[in-house]
Amino acid sequence: MKKEIWKIANEIKEELVTDRRHFHMYPELGFEEHQTAAYVAKKLKELGLEVKIGVAKTGVIALLKGKGGTGKTIGIRADMDALPIQEENDVSYKSKHDGKAHMCGHDAHTAILLGVAKILSRLKEQLPGNVKFFFQPAEEGLGGARPMVEAGALADPEVSAVIALHVFDEYDTGKVVIKDGSFTASADKFYIDITGKGGHAAAPHETVDPIVVASHLVVALQTVASRSTDPVDPVVVTVGTFHAGSAYNIIPETAHLSGTIRALKQDVREATWEQIKQITEGVAKSFGATIATKIDLGYNPGFNDPSLNQHIKNAVIDLFGEDQLVIEEEPTMGAEDFYDFSDNYRIPVSMFWLGTRNEEKGIKYPGHSPKFDVDEDALPVGSAVLALTAWNYLAK
Ligand SMILES: [Zn+2]
Ligand SMILES: [Zn+2]
Repeated sequence: MKKEIWKIANEIKEELVTDRRHFHMYPELGFEEHQTAAYVAKKLKELGLEVKIGVAKTGVIALLKGKGGTGKTIGIRADMDALPIQEENDVSYKSKHDGKAHMCGHDAHTAILLGVAKILSRLKEQLPGNVKFFFQPAEEGLGGARPMVEAGALADPEVSAVIALHVFDEYDTGKVVIKDGSFTASADKFYIDITGKGGHAAAPHETVDPIVVASHLVVALQTVASRSTDPVDPVVVTVGTFHAGSAYNIIPETAHLSGTIRALKQDVREATWEQIKQITEGVAKSFGATIATKIDLGYNPGFNDPSLNQHIKNAVIDLFGEDQLVIEEEPTMGAEDFYDFSDNYRIPVSMFWLGTRNEEKGIKYPGHSPKFDVDEDALPVGSAVLALTAWNYLAK
């Protein structure tokens, strides 16, 4: 099947580029992807797929039934949202929306997934199962994956695995980078409000100084990673904001901290919440202050299922040879909401990175920078790898 898939991927290259440039020119932020979703839905309907729109606000789901309409169902996901950045590239397809741009490559992901739908639609008479296409809103921080799953994206027919890719500026065009197991971190936000007793700066003994309390707290929080967690389990507790006070001679009533908690394992993540709670309670007690802590749950730690990964590796080797495959050893403390498609680790999921760097074309800037771009020669590679992986998974 690899020959047919690669042949079609190349035949539709121009469409992949056109679609990607369209999304690039008209970027939309999370949960605002109305035009993007409409474009995607139109293309999917033209292919004769069953299409659902308005899933989790702006998400689109399409179902391609294989031969006989029976067999397993695999999901493939792309994220559609752009970033609130002013693009600085001087290209014909430059963003036409002021202050918004596809600087994370989600324009490429959306085009690549449309490409997979085109490839597999042409081969559907032989397709050994069903494929569900998830075009999700709001990956950048707002979390569009979870509400899609809550809206029933994984049911009817039941999806038994989900795969995805993310473009990656650190590897040359066409390289596929993959890691078994732990791949991305959880990303929770915490907010700590300290209430002391305000007063005159010259009479500190009559006050409970929330700035001093907050300072102790910032230092104590450093021990979560350094003293309370197994050193082989990475965890990050970063205080990102510290707000208190209004004048040099006043001890304020309150102080406010906020920050992020990152962990690669769910048990480490949960232990960290507990430790933060204990530390804040202890500090509050020792200073006689009141401390309220709130933790906003973000994305789950990402875990790539090794057997699903094997299908991806086989597809890459089959299509392009062993040289195009890069085995990544280290996880990242970055986070990805794709992993919410595992429905809290109920089904296997796997994501790989697709190299899109091309120094000769000047495409060498990191994601989220105003000069980020994607080498479009990688688009058919992405579509072909996802299509063949899905095929092999369904055939087994
Ligand atoms: Zn991003
Ligand atoms: Zn991204």
